[in-house]
Amino acid sequence: MTADIIPHTSIEAHQPSWQEELAAAIRNPAELLERLEINPTQLDASPVAQQAWSLRVPLPYVQRMKKGDIDDPLLKQVLPLGAEMLTAPGFSSDPLGEEDANPIPGVVHKYHGRALLIISPACAIHCRYCFRRHFPYEDNTLGRKEWQTALDYLARDESISEVIYSGGDPLAANDNFLLWITEQIAAIPHIKRLRIHTRLPLVIPSRIDPGCLHWMTATRLKVVMVWHINHPNEIDQAVSQAAQRLKRHGIELLNQSVLLHQINDSSATLVALSEQLFETGIMPYYIHRLDKVAGAAHFNVSDAKIQQLQRELLTLLPGYLVPKFVYEQAAAPSKQPLSLLIKADS
Ligand code: SF4
Repeated sequence: MTADIIPHTSIEAHQPSWQEELAAAIRNPAELLERLEINPTQLDASPVAQQAWSLRVPLPYVQRMKKGDIDDPLLKQVLPLGAEMLTAPGFSSDPLGEEDANPIPGVVHKYHGRALLIISPACAIHCRYCFRRHFPYEDNTLGRKEWQTALDYLARDESISEVIYSGGDPLAANDNFLLWITEQIAAIPHIKRLRIHTRLPLVIPSRIDPGCLHWMTATRLKVVMVWHINHPNEIDQAVSQAAQRLKRHGIELLNQSVLLHQINDSSATLVALSEQLFETGIMPYYIHRLDKVAGAAHFNVSDAKIQQLQRELLTLLPGYLVPKFVYEQAAAPSKQPLSLLIKADS
């Protein structure tokens, strides 16, 4: 064979689109445990919890879990367990009082200057500790006409300078819709910034594709993306590459985490997370005390432990890599710094 003859036998591997990866997400706990080579009897996996809120986890995220490890910190974030069915004092279906801050369908308006839009009711992954696991999405799923009502609400209130895309996961919506709604928001003169709260680029990094980058960069709005990464094992090369694509297009990247019992409540894990986030181009921003949502009490970390972790992080990391420790309180005018929590509890 001469050098200039190219054999036609090589077939390029099919790279699944993000929509294909979303559709292929695992929804059956038995299938997940089988892939991870875990004997189901080793865990308290619960069909009742699965029925109340089903498992959903995309394969790129599953691939970062350690086979045979029932304590894997990623597995623990997604597997429905019997502990979710226990009631606990102080844990409720609406821990942040969002029902009282939902002036019209699709809009949550709690804080001065910022309004949140429920862009999509769907998520790519079901995080068992999610404070919106009982949110009435059926009342907040809008058609174009209802979106116009939401946009009119934003246009009427000149104090709003920042719009937050949330959900569900806003990036579960399609790019045509995201382009349209971003254009409508950019046409409102007093809105300056767009903040996107998402886990999708973490669990399916291919979501950051040209269509997604187009609407994020075709706008006059300054775009900030807040990732939700809880553990350093969640970051792999594909996640880093997705973050780099966003950075190259001028998107600011921040991270918020939730403190989760026996998942990330050690200073070694949190130090590794902050360092890896910085390597990836994402600034550690917030670390939240768990919101007291019914079904998640087994993830709770005590206030004393949170204080200890904060002190250790301040010692072990440069200040710019220490996220702000905060908690949310229904009807409060902002997130509350941990120092206020200590005062209130003492
Ligand atoms: S809204 Fe966020 S935290 Fe809640 S399940 Fe969806 S991705 Fe997870």
